Amino acid sequence: MIKERILLVEDNKALSNLVRRKMEQNLNYEVIQAYSYREAEEILEDNDDFFIALLDLNLPDAPNGEIVDFILSYNIPSIILTGTIDDNIREEMISKNIIDYVYKGNMDDVNYIFSLIKRLSKNRYIKVMVVDDSQVIRNKIKKVLEKQMFKVIVAAHGEEALNYLESNPDIELILTDYNMPVINGLELTKEIRKKYDKNQLIIISVTSSNEQLISAKFLKIGANDFINKPFSDEELICRVHNMIEAKEYITKMTNMAHLDFLTDLYNRRYFFDNIEDFLKDKNGFAIGMLDIDHFKKINDRYGHDVGDEVIKEIAKVLKNETKGSDIVARFGGEEFCIALRNIDKKSAVGFFVKIRRIISEKIVAVNNEKIKMTVSIGVAFKEDGDKIEDILKKADEALYEAKNSGRNRVEIA
Ligand code: GH3
Ligand code: MG
Ligand code: MG
Repeated sequence: MIKERILLVEDNKALSNLVRRKMEQNLNYEVIQAYSYREAEEILEDNDDFFIALLDLNLPDAPNGEIVDFILSYNIPSIILTGTIDDNIREEMISKNIIDYVYKGNMDDVNYIFSLIKRLSKNRYIKVMVVDDSQVIRNKIKKVLEKQMFKVIVAAHGEEALNYLESNPDIELILTDYNMPVINGLELTKEIRKKYDKNQLIIISVTSSNEQLISAKFLKIGANDFINKPFSDEELICRVHNMIEAKEYITKMTNMAHLDFLTDLYNRRYFFDNIEDFLKDKNGFAIGMLDIDHFKKINDRYGHDVGDEVIKEIAKVLKNETKGSDIVARFGGEEFCIALRNIDKKSAVGFFVKIRRIISEKIVAVNNEKIKMTVSIGVAFKEDGDKIEDILKKADEALYEAKNSGRNRVEIA
């Protein structure tokens, strides 16, 4: 994959190198350094494809921020770096459609730039909807959000918003006005909450400061936060970013609760929380219990770390060979449970036979060692009246049978 590029125009070489090192180590961007206006010109003549530019206002051959208009003429989103705190310059620069204006004093400021770029690169994949009957406000908010690189959709009233949400279920955050024709903001929030909870879709209400009671109402029926009109661009950005970051954190926590730490497969708990749906399948489903053969020997001979690699490799095979609608879980140790959905018995057996073969032909190379391994699999199907425990018990018994009959086999209950 070609790395995205960041243009860094800064004449202080030490600072420039520091920023470059941090970006390249942690963010996987290629940072192109220019130390003057002239060098920036040469770089852009050659290739002007940049994700973002970081611009020093005071360069040896452009001491008064001339670089900003030049870079903006290439439509490259820009962050200003400055050594002086001057309100007039700040106002002038912010009016130029830049993303942010950052003082470069110490390491904290470099860290701020770093987290800002990280945020912006994520924002590019986040869809936000602005709902307001005033075209002026709608477009103002849209512009502010687009500067932060969000994908923005606008709707003029609640009904339109619901239609857009229907066709854009990947919208992650909605900013809604209160007073609107047809469906107002409160009704819109109520309607959305029937389908999406607070952790799935963020709603921020935007109300006039003389409508404080309305803000409370919004919160009570499920808005995540509110903003009072009039608001500054910075407040809007901060509130939106706070909410998005909280949502990302919750998603991360949820994944941690559902996923196995070593393999990223689902864990046992997720399996039992979600398997009930499978039991309702009319087209049948199959369970395979898989256990690595003589795994203790692999641990004893190569060490526990290598054993872990073997477990991960097997997890990869299972993930690659199954569909998103199936569940592959690590039940513990070197034991996995695979639930296949909408599958007839013959295809299911064929699938597990194939898995056994793929794994037996695999060579895992770790620490100059080439390791081969085999697995045993017990397969079971649902019969009328079976609960999940009954099916798992049958699969376990079949697995025991496979082990007893010599291992490296698939046994059917
Ligand atoms: P069998 O063919 O009968 O399944 O023999 P086995 O040696 O694979 O089975 P046994 O259940 O006796 O041993 C499993 C071993 O797996 C014991 C345990 O130390 C090891 N193990 C369990 N969890 C992990 C893990 O997360 N990483 C590693 N490396 N080893 C683990
Ligand atoms: Mg084993
Ligand atoms: Mg075991």
